[in-house]
Amino acid sequence: MEVSIEQEINQIEVGKPHLVILGAGASYAAFPNGDKNGKILPLMNNFVETLGIEKLIEGAKIKTTSNNFEDIYSEIHKNPELESLRKELENEVYNYFQNMEIPDEPTIYDHLVLSLRNKDFIATFNWDPFLVQAIQRNGKRFKLPRVLFLHGNVEVGYCENGHMMGNNGGFCHECDQPLTPTNILYPVSEKNYHLDEFISRQWATLEDLLKHVFMVTVFGYGAPVSDTRAVELLKKAWGSTDSRNLEEFEIIDVRDEDDLTSTWSPFIHSHHYRVENSFYNSWIANHPRRSGEAYLNQFMNAMFIDNNPLPKDADFQQLWEWYDKLQAVEDEKNITNSSSGQFKGTHPILMVNSILKTLNH
Ligand SMILES: [Zn+2]
Repeated sequence: MEVSIEQEINQIEVGKPHLVILGAGASYAAFPNGDKNGKILPLMNNFVETLGIEKLIEGAKIKTTSNNFEDIYSEIHKNPELESLRKELENEVYNYFQNMEIPDEPTIYDHLVLSLRNKDFIATFNWDPFLVQAIQRNGKRFKLPRVLFLHGNVEVGYCENGHMMGNNGGFCHECDQPLTPTNILYPVSEKNYHLDEFISRQWATLEDLLKHVFMVTVFGYGAPVSDTRAVELLKKAWGSTDSRNLEEFEIIDVRDEDDLTSTWSPFIHSHHYRVENSFYNSWIANHPRRSGEAYLNQFMNAMFIDNNPLPKDADFQQLWEWYDKLQAVEDEKNITNSSSGQFKGTHPILMVNSILKTLNH
């Protein structure tokens, strides 16, 4: 029993979401040379130099000798006397990320968003604007996944009346109010997710969503110490490993496999997980827009399946033509397959897909 590429392309059966969780490692992998203008993504241990904020930090008489931004920021955050410095620092960080621009050629983020369907979700910890910019340029032609921003994002604003979220600087389509920029959550160990209106909704949706997914892919998220609470929330929402038999867990990361499996052991059922060191070896990249169907064929129906790898070196024209045939099948079969296990969310204020609405206007 074998499933050919053609058969995979023509098969639309799964309505359950595939969830991708993005961490800083995903943005580094996608933008190794920085943004369109060569502006690089800072790492926690070169953050201060990369942003050029040495002077700001030096003047503050901080005790830590660490050059890790998490340590520096945590210390400033704890000290009420340094509040104005903290605000200045936050402004610098926000502006640095907000001014980044996605390069002109297709990137891993373009490939990622094109390879998922509208039933699928990406939950990102990243503040940078690249994912939104990738959605913006591909969303004009394709139905793309919905996105949750777990630590806020410089490119995203939301309507305080709960109508929608969209580009930072834009206006609500319902009530014409300017969208409120989302706060970004800085690296301190005690992150109070529930205190921020926008972020608490993102987490509540994620919690709900995790009960419905057939597969989770974690891409470049190292679960840093300052994210203990995030990992706890994920564990709680994902439930116990014993009660999970069908779901698949995939990790895309350049780190050592032992290191990774110890980080993620609570999420990994004894056999149902895989580790890849590159996005292009992942389930998504080899079964674009059909990750659920490929999962069904291989793991539920025990069939041999062919890979249908996305054309990673194609330019936008070629890339879009390649994805057109996948979406054409979806459009054709949409009428009969619209309700098979799709996640709608129980929070009335959830308007995650409206980001596409705004970006496509
Ligand atoms: Zn509104």
